[in-house]
Amino acid sequence: MVIDIIKAKIDVVEEIGLVVTLQKSGKSFKGLCPFHNERTPSFHVFAESQTWHCFGCNEGGDVFTFVQKQQGLEFRDALLYLAEKAGVLVEDHSSRNPEEEREITAVKDRLRKVNEDALLWFHQMLLRSREAAEARAYVQSRGISSDSVITFGLGYAPDRWDSLCSYLLGQGYTERELINGGLARDRTSGEDEGQEKSGGVYDYFRGRLIFPIRDMRGRVIGFGGRALGDGQPKYLNSPQTLLFEKNSVLYALDMAKDAIKLANQVVIVEGYVDAVIAHQYGTKQTVACIGSAITAKHIQQLKKLTKQVTLALDPDAAGATATEHGIQEALKSFDHTVVPVPLAAASGWRKRNEPRGMIRLEEQVDAEINVLQLPAGEDPDEVIRRDFSLWAYAVSHPLPLVDYYFVAKTAGLNLREPNGKSEVARRLLPVIGMISDRVKRDAYIRKLATMITIDERSLHEELQRVLRGQRAEEAGFLGSAPRRGHGGVPQSSSFPSSEGRGKEGGLDRSRNNRLQWEDYLIGLLLQNPGLSPYVCGIINDGDFAGTDTRELYHILNSVYQRGSSSSNQSFEQLVPPALLATVARAQQCVESRPPRDGAGQVRDAVQCATRLKRTHLLQLNTELKYLVREAEEAGDVVSMQQLQRQLLEIHRQLRTIDSATHLQG
Ligand SMILES: [Zn+2]
Repeated sequence: MVIDIIKAKIDVVEEIGLVVTLQKSGKSFKGLCPFHNERTPSFHVFAESQTWHCFGCNEGGDVFTFVQKQQGLEFRDALLYLAEKAGVLVEDHSSRNPEEEREITAVKDRLRKVNEDALLWFHQMLLRSREAAEARAYVQSRGISSDSVITFGLGYAPDRWDSLCSYLLGQGYTERELINGGLARDRTSGEDEGQEKSGGVYDYFRGRLIFPIRDMRGRVIGFGGRALGDGQPKYLNSPQTLLFEKNSVLYALDMAKDAIKLANQVVIVEGYVDAVIAHQYGTKQTVACIGSAITAKHIQQLKKLTKQVTLALDPDAAGATATEHGIQEALKSFDHTVVPVPLAAASGWRKRNEPRGMIRLEEQVDAEINVLQLPAGEDPDEVIRRDFSLWAYAVSHPLPLVDYYFVAKTAGLNLREPNGKSEVARRLLPVIGMISDRVKRDAYIRKLATMITIDERSLHEELQRVLRGQRAEEAGFLGSAPRRGHGGVPQSSSFPSSEGRGKEGGLDRSRNNRLQWEDYLIGLLLQNPGLSPYVCGIINDGDFAGTDTRELYHILNSVYQRGSSSSNQSFEQLVPPALLATVARAQQCVESRPPRDGAGQVRDAVQCATRLKRTHLLQLNTELKYLVREAEEAGDVVSMQQLQRQLLEIHRQLRTIDSATHLQG
């Protein structure tokens, strides 16, 4: 979705920093609010969640809200403004400037050409140059055939400062083009001292084996360089460029895509060499992750080819870290709101939730994630070369994600002893609780019951306890959904009591839940605009976490308030094309549930609104507490008092919401 792409590319701190002088304070930034008059800063920008909030005038939101408010723009224009900044094309036929479009295309073409020329040069270096002897020896030692060297276009970047640069400059490229293409660095940035002075730029890749990275269509968009010897870092990838978007590109996807469709499976490995060797031996449905994290963007791309995603993860310690990292990345890409939480709590949270993130990823992206089991301590390329049949078997018999956790989480436990049994249950029940498909969940309960020879019923009871605990923590949509197996459909009975929901730290995880509640509310309002008056007394635009849902709410509300009499523009006419997908999503969210009568709709709408308000207040509460502590540590008494006043105000609002909730029953 275009909004997400823009948000991924534009840093809210940078964008706001253009207007407001920001001062770093701990994990956040603060400055004087541009929207109200103040002498001490109460305007805060949170880098992690990419949000901002002014505790003086209570304005807040994301980068879109800031641009809209600060420049006085409609959403549509803010979208165009930010899209242009991010170099993202937006379908908005009315305002596309063909000249600009041509210009961007021309720049991209030029970048492709410089990448292509660099590739040929790297490749020739590897094949012919004397300096590349070590690289060739390395290639051979990893069992990469000369055929693979040619098919994958492997190359070598000599260990010199200006070999590629001087070649490309000689070919008529400018220094700026080399830098923009990610092939050179600016000397004046001064990271590396002591190199001979011969120009304004120097080679980005030096002394490395080069793996060209191509897009789906096979065009070179960047490079990965593996250090030879003990150069650091071991792997260096092209920086982000107009062509190269790191967290969505998969290595060798262009060569794997046909095989992926054919095999109805994609295997994701961690290293370039693993991918090359897998292809070389015939498992051509293999791609490699650039960096060590799998993101939703990767899986969204792959889903066009297959829904069977198999991860080849190192089972040893290093692999475990990579997996965890992957999970964190996955969480980050879904849960953009990471509210600052105390460090200790954060690490404990990761440990507790590690499988949850992955299972949530699976359900979110609607793909099946499997894990390929390999002998401990061996990289895929080693296994492939040592015993291809072992690899082939593993590829054709991967473990479903939850089964993988059954294996991984029970390793080293004695299942015959009572202690071992209860430990297994303690570790696996939260994993099982994440599955929203009831049939599937029951099957795993049965499996666990058999595994530790315990009564299924008592496990079900224990699971309910775990789920209640999770719900209390998460205040969440998914947390309560599994009980009914509806894939996260809110029902009146699921509205949790307010006790125990104020815990910090659960909020970032509930972001997804929150977005689903937002979808549901928008869906209800689309279906029945008459619900507006019930909702608008509880929430306002600022309580929405989603940029798209917020704007839709804004439009819906304005259409409703204008009434049918005076309006000449209908809702459909007012919705920017970029938000049509959200409209469909929201409608689907309502249609996927049993129909409600009028009173039921009102009840659901009020519940959604209350929940959104509450979640927003809790988020502010967490941020405020964090800021209070920060001010306390800095000895900033004035800020501290001001923030504490705000904190009291938030608490007051929370109490109001709570008593209203009790009245509603
Ligand atoms: Zn303000």
